[in-house]
Amino acid sequence: MVELIAFSFTTKGMMNMFDLTGQIALVTGAANGIGKGIAETLTKAGARVMIADVNEEDGKRTAEALGGEFYKLDVTQPEEAERVVEAIVERHGTIDILAANAGIYPEVYIEEMEESDWDVIQSINLKGVFFTAKPVLRVMKERGYGRVILTSSITGDITGYPGGSIYGATKAAILGYMRSTAVEYAKYGITVNAVQPGMIATEGLKKQLAILSEKGAAAVPMKRLGEPEDIGAAVAFFASKEANYITGQSLVIDGGQIIPETPDVIL
Ligand code: NAD
Repeated sequence: MVELIAFSFTTKGMMNMFDLTGQIALVTGAANGIGKGIAETLTKAGARVMIADVNEEDGKRTAEALGGEFYKLDVTQPEEAERVVEAIVERHGTIDILAANAGIYPEVYIEEMEESDWDVIQSINLKGVFFTAKPVLRVMKERGYGRVILTSSITGDITGYPGGSIYGATKAAILGYMRSTAVEYAKYGITVNAVQPGMIATEGLKKQLAILSEKGAAAVPMKRLGEPEDIGAAVAFFASKEANYITGQSLVIDGGQIIPETPDVIL
């Protein structure tokens, strides 16, 4: 009897956990990498996913594979973001979930650094988050419901690497933006949280930080790089009704990378 009760609780109660059936999710930078992993995980949880990216070819392919829709979007262009949000709302009536994930992380060393490097990286990683979130938050506020999840990083807030100073500054700044936005929108039923990935095996990591892609796993207690779906799972949690009372928070997903006191303690 006890077993039966436990079983029925498990099937009835647990099966619906993190259920996003019918929800409309907009994911930026979703053609590839972590964004694609987020889009896949949200799709598996039942959401209809809108893939937004500058890369039209890969974006269309990802959208087709997931049964979602592709929207061309350069997150540095606020008018484009407004247009994309308008088009989605016209078609689907609302946006329930925003995963603002598009970002770049080129290595730039201090001695070679120019103001233009700041402008390029900031405009995608930081202003791009604001440009996308602004029209989405307006829609969510009207409806009194929304889940916004930003892709930050362990870099900047917790860790650093040579050539990562601009990148780290933008990713730490995302957390600052997230906390105040969470407070500003809490009364409208909107939560704003962030994920802080460690080293995740993506095309971007291979191209932009080859050394971490090749050797990074040695610095991780779990002895592997993360997969995009590992980040997707955390995003699905923040997007779920179970995370209803969580806002202004960030979650590190890094296989334990930031924990060891010294590299030697990783056996
Ligand atoms: P990626 O290069 O594999 O994919 C990034 C996607 O963003 C691409 O599809 C690209 O076309 C798109 N994109 C780039 N500029 C854009 C723009 N202006 N407008 C719209 N889309 C744009 O990179 P990734 O490794 O998947 O990284 C995704 C996010 O995760 C970034 O914000 C990055 O900072 C963050 N992150 C990555 C790691 C990692 O180890 N891979 C770790 C921490 C945080």
